[in-house]
Amino acid sequence: MKNGILNYSKEELSETLKSIGGKKFRAEQILVWLYRFGTTSFFDMTNIGKSLQKQLDEMFYIYRPSISKVLESKDGTIKFSLELQDGNTIESVFIPEEKRNTICVSSQVGCSVGCRFCNTGYHGFIRNLSTEEIISQFLIVKDYLKLWNGEDRLSNVVFMGMGEPLLNYENVLKTINNLMIDDVEGLSRRKITVSTSGISPILMKIAKDLPCRLAVSLHAPNDSIRSGIMPINDIYNIESLLTACKEYTKCHEYLRITFEYLLLNGVNDSKECARELLELLKDLNAKVNLLQLNSWGNCGFKPSSKKQVSQFANILNNGGLEAFIRTRRGEDIMAACGQLSSNNRDKNMI
Ligand code: SAH
Ligand code: SF4
Repeated sequence: MKNGILNYSKEELSETLKSIGGKKFRAEQILVWLYRFGTTSFFDMTNIGKSLQKQLDEMFYIYRPSISKVLESKDGTIKFSLELQDGNTIESVFIPEEKRNTICVSSQVGCSVGCRFCNTGYHGFIRNLSTEEIISQFLIVKDYLKLWNGEDRLSNVVFMGMGEPLLNYENVLKTINNLMIDDVEGLSRRKITVSTSGISPILMKIAKDLPCRLAVSLHAPNDSIRSGIMPINDIYNIESLLTACKEYTKCHEYLRITFEYLLLNGVNDSKECARELLELLKDLNAKVNLLQLNSWGNCGFKPSSKKQVSQFANILNNGGLEAFIRTRRGEDIMAACGQLSSNNRDKNMI
């Protein structure tokens, strides 16, 4: 049976090549073909000898999911629904901006964390994605949009699609490490962001090894509000989460953590909440992204008004905590944060 070559790290591929009598340095050449040029046949890898091409073809396949739907928003955001080999569907979102092209990738089919405001969480967890299923989201979007040339490359990757990346961290880390290899895709650690709902013991464990930026979905200034909207807080409370964040900061001095704060009308958007948040994060050298609610079918929350959002931002900024109001992208095609889903039940997906 053939193995998926996109599941391999550079080191694993080097070892495998060594075991069949190949040279270790070929691993990097192969990864360049796979990641930088999007090659889908070993026979197109022209700097590799014919016999090794044949051997590779006998041992490996090069994975791509099939694209089941592409929706384009009026703001240029594009949502890809991808069908996996077992029939499950995941979603990836392409977000063009003036100076960068970001891809938002999924790490799981569904999510088990069950945040009350999130459509992915509402539909439950199905399974983790393999490394090839994560990395191929990046490759298939590049294929579809013909982004193989320098200028137009996919410059940023955010793990903010479906799923909780820390609950699939081995495959997530392998993907990140592969995308960061110099001379392959060479993405810098500042261009990759992992967003987590706060699985504190795992964050603590991998803080040192996480080679990129971290975003933490905090969404509340205290345990009682947070537990009401994020049940995970009953297991890993804010104190445990901030302890793990401090560990990350200790290991990555120059990568400031971003705390995500979703403003929900009447739940966490009062002046008191803003002041409490200021106090909570004062020692962390962090910044805050204020998110506005993206609604979906059964979402029981209401967005905060523009006035409340800017009032909240002002209190943080005036108190010395840098806060940005994140612009919504792709809401009309259900591609915005928290709207992705592994089935086609959403109205505008049918
Ligand atoms: N599971 C990870 C990453 C995916 S969610 C996490 O929770 O961090 C990406 C971001 O979207 C998170 O900050 C999440 O809290 C936020 N989000 C979820 N549902 C949302 C909604 N309905 N509106 C706006 N943001 C939402
Ligand atoms: Fe899962 Fe993130 Fe949605 Fe929470 S917000 S349910 S962790 S995907």
